[in-house]
Amino acid sequence: MLHFSSRVVALHRHRRDRRLPGGWLPAGDRVQITIAGAGQAAAAMAAKLRALGHQDEIVVIGNEPAAPYQRPPLSKAYLLGEMPLDRLMLRGTEWWADNRITLRTGCPVTAIDPAAHVVETEGGLQSYDVLALCLGAAPRRLPSAIGGDLPGVHVVRSLADIDGLIPSLGPGRRLVVIGGGYIGLEAAAVARKLGLQVTVVEAGPRILGRVASQPMAGLIRNLHISRGVEVIEGVGVTALEGEASVAAVRLSDGRSLPCDLVICGIGVLPETALAAGAGLALDNGIAVDALGRTSEPAIWAAGDCASFPQNGGRMRLESVGNAIDMAEAVAANIMGAGADYIAKPWFWSDQFDAKLQITGLATGADREILRGHEAGAAEAGGASVWSFAGDRLLCVEALNDPRAYMVGKRLIDAGRSADPAAVADPATDIKSLMR
Ligand code: NAP
Repeated sequence: MLHFSSRVVALHRHRRDRRLPGGWLPAGDRVQITIAGAGQAAAAMAAKLRALGHQDEIVVIGNEPAAPYQRPPLSKAYLLGEMPLDRLMLRGTEWWADNRITLRTGCPVTAIDPAAHVVETEGGLQSYDVLALCLGAAPRRLPSAIGGDLPGVHVVRSLADIDGLIPSLGPGRRLVVIGGGYIGLEAAAVARKLGLQVTVVEAGPRILGRVASQPMAGLIRNLHISRGVEVIEGVGVTALEGEASVAAVRLSDGRSLPCDLVICGIGVLPETALAAGAGLALDNGIAVDALGRTSEPAIWAAGDCASFPQNGGRMRLESVGNAIDMAEAVAANIMGAGADYIAKPWFWSDQFDAKLQITGLATGADREILRGHEAGAAEAGGASVWSFAGDRLLCVEALNDPRAYMVGKRLIDAGRSADPAAVADPATDIKSLMR
C-alpha cells in the first residue's frame, strides 16, 4: 500500500466528508473525475462525460507515452504498414484541450487510496471525487524459465510492441506464432502477406477455441492453409531455445521449429493489481455491480479490466466494442442515470482479405448451423455460422457476409430468434429471417 503524506490525506478527507452516503456530492459542488488508464474505454468515458454535461475537471492518466489510440489496427493495417500513426490516434491533440480534459500520458498510476480519494502516480498525487478504472488487460507471456523473455519473442498489445516488431518482419524470415486466437491469426496473416514463412502453434484442440465456433474455426483454418500458413493444433510449447535470440520453438510432441522470431498471442490478463492493492473486490477482473460501480462507492470500472453481472452470472469481455459501450454506460451512471449495463457483444477480425464479424456469444450453444460456402476458399461468396441454444439464437459469425451479420445483430440485439429450420435452408433469403 502506498504511503501518502498526512497533509494530502487531511486535504482529501475534507472533500470526502462532504460526500453523501450514495457517493454523490450535493448539487452545486464541484465533482472532479479521474480516469486511470488512457485506452479506448478511458477516451470513450471522458468524451461521454462531457457530452452528458459534466462541467468540472476530468483528468485521464495513462502509463503509455502515446495519447489514446485504437488497438485493433495494431495487429492489422498498422502492422502491415498500411495505416499511418496519426490515423491510429483516437482524438487529435486539440480535442483534449478543447474539451478541457487533462491528459497525463507516460504517467503510470502506482496506487489508489480509496479512503483519502487519492491516486498515486509516478508524476505525483492526484485527488478525485470519482475515480474510474479503465485499465485494460496485459498480454500473457511464456515463463522466462522456458525462454519466454528471449530477444526475438514479441507480444502484440501496445504501440511500442508493434513498433518493436515491425523491423523484424522481413520477407523470407521464419515466424512461429504461439496461440491461435485473434492476435496470433491476425499477426500470422499480416506476416504472410509480408512474405514471411509462418507457423501457428495452438495448444488447444483447435484454433479460436474460446472465441469462435468449430465450423467458423474450420473456415479460418482453411483460409490460412490456403495462403501458405502452417497450422499446428493440439500441441503445446515446451521451450523457446536460442542464445542471443530465439532460434527454435520446441513442441510437446518433440518437434523443434527453427525460427527467426516468435509472436506470443496466448491471451491477456485483466489489470487488477491496482484494484487489489486498494482492497476492491475482484472476480475474474475488477468486480463491478450492474451500474459499473466497484465495491468502493466512489470508484467505477469499465472495459477489459472489469467483470459485471449479466444473465444471472458474471461476464468480462475483451473487446473494443465492450470497452466503448461499457465506458459510455458507466459515464452515464456516474452522471446519475441508474441504468444497468446490458452487454451486446460484437467483434470483428480481418485476416488476409476476409472479414469476420461476430454478434452475440456462443457460450451454451447446442446447435451450430453453417450457411453458405460449403467448400473452397473462405473468401468465395461468404459464409455464416448461426449458434442456437434450443430455438434461441445466441450468436452469428459472418465471414465476408455483411448481410448475415446485419440480420443476426438486429435479431440478437432485439432479443429475437430465427427459425433454425429456415436458417438451415440454403433457399431462405437471409433478410426474410427478420420478418
Ligand atoms: P485468446 O483469444 O485468448 O487466444 C489465445 C490462444 O492461445 C488460445 O486459443 C489459447 O488456448 C492459446 N494458448 C494459450 N497458451 C498457449 C500456449 N502455451 N501454446 C500455444 N497456445 C496457447 O487471446 P489473443 O489472441 O492473445 O488475444 C488477446 C486479446 O485481444 C483477446 O481478448 C482477443 O479477443 C483480443 N483481440 C481481439 C481481436 C478481434 O476481436 N479482432 C483481435 C486481436 C485481439 P486456450 O484457450 O486453450 O488457453
